[in-house]
Amino acid sequence: MEIITGENNPLLRKKSQPVEHLTKEIRLLISQMKPIMETYDGIGLAAPQVGISLRIIVCEVEDKFYALINPEIIKTSKKTVTMTEGCLSLPNIYGDVERPERIIVKAINQEGEKIKFKAFGLLSRVIQHEVDHLDGILFIDKAKNIIKTTEEKNLL
Ligand code: ZN
Repeated sequence: MEIITGENNPLLRKKSQPVEHLTKEIRLLISQMKPIMETYDGIGLAAPQVGISLRIIVCEVEDKFYALINPEIIKTSKKTVTMTEGCLSLPNIYGDVERPERIIVKAINQEGEKIKFKAFGLLSRVIQHEVDHLDGILFIDKAKNIIKTTEEKNLL
């Protein structure tokens, strides 16, 4: 399994399908996405980035791992924040993206349970970036001040 790159890659530009059943294969996929994200020093990864067009994202923020199946952002704060983002699928490209500061997320977890939680800070940022991937949206579509550098930054 490898990370798919390129802003015009059709695999990164199509809308992913919802997961209908939490099968063994889905659990296996999630267990494979975690080490890939970690190997590449990412803090988030969406299934389309490994070529699987399903609505699954993983992220790791402050040592807490999240696997979200069919994630939906059901509420966003009016207040926005701008942060520099990068993406494992767009190596060495960074840009400033304005997004809502806080969100409420609904999803299914790895145990198949429905969950709903509030996120702010980096977790909110990562989830919004990864959910965009599920809709074929890349951060460069929303970013200002896009730069190319090999300097290490947060990779979402
Ligand atoms: Zn990304």
